[in-house]
Formats: sequence, C-alpha cells, structure tokens
Amino acid sequence: MSGLMKGKRGLVMGVANDHSIAWGIAKALADQGAELAFTYQGEAFGRRVRPLADSVGADLLLPCDVEDIATVDAVFDTLKEKWGSIDFLVHAIAFSDKSELRGRYADTTRENFARTMMISCFSFTEIAKRAADLMTDGGSMITLTYGGSTKVMPNYNVMGVAKAALESSVRYLAMDFGSDNIRVNAISAGPVRTLAGSGVSDARVMFNYQKQHSPLGRTVTIDEVGGSALYLLSDLSNGVTGEIHFVDSGYNTVSMPRLDALKA
Ligand code: NAD
Repeated sequence: MSGLMKGKRGLVMGVANDHSIAWGIAKALADQGAELAFTYQGEAFGRRVRPLADSVGADLLLPCDVEDIATVDAVFDTLKEKWGSIDFLVHAIAFSDKSELRGRYADTTRENFARTMMISCFSFTEIAKRAADLMTDGGSMITLTYGGSTKVMPNYNVMGVAKAALESSVRYLAMDFGSDNIRVNAISAGPVRTLAGSGVSDARVMFNYQKQHSPLGRTVTIDEVGGSALYLLSDLSNGVTGEIHFVDSGYNTVSMPRLDALKA
C-alpha cells in the first residue's frame, strides 16, 4: 500500500536524533507521502534534526521549548501562515530530572513533580488545543506513553504518574474534539534505546527483562512504532479515538514471565 498520507500535512514534535521514536514515526509518514514540519528543542538538537528533516523533504523546522508557551504559539502561528491548516500531530515529548528516575517515587520533589507534569503531560493538552484549531477538515493526533502509567516499573516513578495523566488527557481530548472529527490516541511503546529512555535508571535491565518476557520475545523498533503511528494518523483508523494502543511485543498482556525464560 502506498500514498496513504498523500495530501496530508502535519507537525512532528520530539525528534532529538535518528534514534528518537518521533523519527521512526516521521519516516513512516513521509514514506506514505505526508508533508512534514518538525520542531526541535534548542540549537544543539536543531543541528541534528536539520539533516533528518532535509532527508524527508521538510522545509519547516521550528524551535520550540514547551516550557515557554510563546515558542509553542510561534510554531502554530507559522503553520497557520504557511499552510493554513494541518491534518495530523505527533507529540513525542517527555522530561523528568534524571536524579528522580531512580529509587523511590515517594522521594519525588514538588519542583520536579510540577516540571515533569508540565513537560510530559500538560504540554500535550496545550499543543492539542492549538493543533485542533488548525484541523479545519478533521484530523488525527497522537502522543507517546509507556506501561509504567498503570503498573509499577522500577525507577519510572514520577514519569509513570505523568503518563497516567497523559493517558487520561487523551480520553478527555478525544471527547472534546470528537465532534470536529478530530481523533486523539496514544501509542504505548515498549522500551526503546533513546536519549529519554536512557534517563531511567537501570534502563538496560528493564529493556532485557521485557525482551525476555514478552510474547514476541524481543523489543520493538522505532520503525514498528512508526507503522502503528501511520495507522493511527491515516484514514485507516477513522473509527478509532481515545485509545491507548500498545506497541510493546505484547509485554502488557503478560501476567507471569515465560516459563522457558525462568527455567533457563
Ligand atoms: P528522545 O529523547 O529521542 O525524545 C524526547 C524528546 O522530548 C526530545 O526530542 C526532546 O527534545 C523533547 N523534549 C524534552 N523536553 C522538552 C521541552 N521542554 N520542550 C520541547 N521538547 C522537549 O526519546 P524518545 O524515547 O523517543 O521519547 C519520545 C516519547 O516516547 C516520550 O514521550 C517518551 O516518554 C515516550 N516513550 C519512550 C519509550 C522509550 O523506551 N524510549 C517508551 C515509551 C514511551
């Protein structure tokens, strides 16, 4: 199947480098004919994202730090001016102080709780609202979450709490925008080796554990997350909204680890 995204334009937020989940998604969208705009957080990331954007023919590459709402507004002002409307949005942004992605959740500080929630959860609501204003002919948006939202994962801590709120936001936003034919979903990805992923203490142990105990017996690639994002952002999923879609080799479905792995 080709040309699924032909004639569609959208914004991809959260590419830091070619290991980023957002980059896997961007490639899948571009391969199917989508026209993309990208944001980057600060010049150091900008230098890495520029050649990636060039490689998929994207001219719109805009700075954006979600802690500074003026930069978010500037992105949507530019999109309005250049394109008038958009069809899809990818939000793949999260941050928490690394020193609190270890040890006990109970030790989370007030300051880091608020900052983690702002960047990793509320930014989606602020951005979704602005994106919906530009989705004049309907649209689709996704954010990225992780299974640490509903089940305790070692060291994931405040990020798990932020992801739980993010997933709830997806359902509320899906209701808010449904009457405008705008769909809102999340992909809950299995562990992927990225900059953000490596911020969680003992990430490698979690990565290997999930690899060993998932039904597919492996972790997922950014291209596989990209394939599912393509489905959620294209017309193939026109009847789907408010969902948390797992792309995790089936790990979330498992109660007890594989016996063969335990016996090994
Ligand atoms: P990544 O480090 O490649 O991407 C994280 C992005 O967040 C970066 O581009 C960074 O610039 C951006 N960001 C952080 N703070 C920001 C701010 N204030 N303003 C604007 N952008 C900001 O890592 P990734 O793993 O691709 O993360 C993308 C999303 O996927 C995140 O929401 C993450 O929680 C989620 N996720 C990751 C995994 C994993 O194992 N890597 C699993 C499930 C979900």
